[in-house]
Amino acid sequence: MTMEPCTSSSKASHRANSICFGLDGATTYFTDMPTGRILAYASDVDTGQAHSPRLFADSADHSGLPDGRGSSGTSRRQADRLPRAQVSRASTSPGSPTDPALAPRGMACRSASRLEGPSVKITEISTHILRVPLGDRTFYSSQAAFPERNSLLVRIRTDDGLEGWGEGGQYGPPSPVAAVIDDVLAPRLIGRTPDQPVRIWEELYSFSRDFGRQGPYIEAISALDIALWDLWGQSLDRPVHALLGGAFRDRLPAYATGGYYGENFRDRTAMLEELKAQTATYVDSGFGILKMKVGLLPIALDAERVTTVRRTVGPDVDLLVDANHAYNTATAIRMGRALEENGILWFEEPVVPEDRAGYRAVREALSVPIAGGEAEYTRYGFRELIGGGCVDIAQPDLCVSGGFSEFQKIQALASTYGVLTVPHVWGSGIALAAALHALATVPATPHTYAPVPLQNLPVVEYDRTHNPLRDELLVENFALTDGDLLVPQGPGLGVTIDEEVLQRYETTR
Ligand SMILES: [Mg+2]
Repeated sequence: MTMEPCTSSSKASHRANSICFGLDGATTYFTDMPTGRILAYASDVDTGQAHSPRLFADSADHSGLPDGRGSSGTSRRQADRLPRAQVSRASTSPGSPTDPALAPRGMACRSASRLEGPSVKITEISTHILRVPLGDRTFYSSQAAFPERNSLLVRIRTDDGLEGWGEGGQYGPPSPVAAVIDDVLAPRLIGRTPDQPVRIWEELYSFSRDFGRQGPYIEAISALDIALWDLWGQSLDRPVHALLGGAFRDRLPAYATGGYYGENFRDRTAMLEELKAQTATYVDSGFGILKMKVGLLPIALDAERVTTVRRTVGPDVDLLVDANHAYNTATAIRMGRALEENGILWFEEPVVPEDRAGYRAVREALSVPIAGGEAEYTRYGFRELIGGGCVDIAQPDLCVSGGFSEFQKIQALASTYGVLTVPHVWGSGIALAAALHALATVPATPHTYAPVPLQNLPVVEYDRTHNPLRDELLVENFALTDGDLLVPQGPGLGVTIDEEVLQRYETTR
């Protein structure tokens, strides 16, 4: 083992089998190559020279490590200088011995200076239930009427005046998600720093594992996670997509989600005329990709709806179809034959999310790619959906499946199966902003020199039903630009809540 003081010159000079990557007071840290073990030696405080060969902490055998499991007789005070997280990450990342994320706080390495992170603390977490009655704009999917749009926003404030926003509670009633945040999770975050969203995610999930692996608990964690990433980005003056590792793109092709059923869905002629007019409007607005609904009506009539839209928009507009899990295997395949005849580019949620075998059977029977995942939670749900061979396109919703922290894991999982990740988007402008940041970081799957939308380039869902929470809530409202939506570039989520609009639609439980 070779020892070096961590000066700028020695830091750059790697010896044969070790690298000094920092000193912290009386401790000098080395990474032993090629094992990746972190070794800590006593050093001279004034000179930084490692003056003693006495090893007092070793990540491989835990001697002298802070959890007290070591057997070297090292004092707890000395051992505490080697943070537990640092040891854990270093020991599993032998290829990155100088990863600045491994550096102890206060160490002398120049690269450590930015690792101090914000010293700010979380001081307040508030929930905001928003409702917009739709009146005569009520619409239907195969599953339900939508007489209102609603959502649950969470605001996290810090002691230096920053505030971050997140969203959850879009699918069902928002009040259970608000209760989880207000009564259970928020008290666990007060006083924490907002610069560790992934760690906080794991802590909250581990805390609620026995009673909240799906549903409101994960939606609540999703909302908090998005707000934490927003805060962290603001504190570093960097957009979330940069913190996620870097954007591949600054804009995404948008697809119009519409083609729902109106109040006239029992009147065939009126229903088809309305559908034609609506989809023509989308094309006139600049969309090159549309998504429509099926599943509420008999298959023959829904097939006529699809054919009607295809004839209306012509062959050059890409069409997607969403059944909202209206079918069993046999009926989904029957519907799928009509989709094949109309050149549909994905069939979304053909069967119920629990029916993995049904998904596989439909996918095997049809040439239309199968999409799904908006009703899945966390990496564990997607492990079954993706690993089980159920889908060609994975659709995690940032506000449902676990926020940015979990999105990264789901996307990584999908990439190993060659499955394209295209997040589901259904909420306010916060949900849309979050999706755009996430989508910016999804690589072409698989890579090509000039990725093609829907083929290997992700696209962004842009719901076109009436929703002021999406179109009015932000100071920076989104708008279609040559068929694309632009990825926000400001710090954090890069968007600002309009407080007046927030108050207009905020309700009590
Ligand atoms: Mg859907």
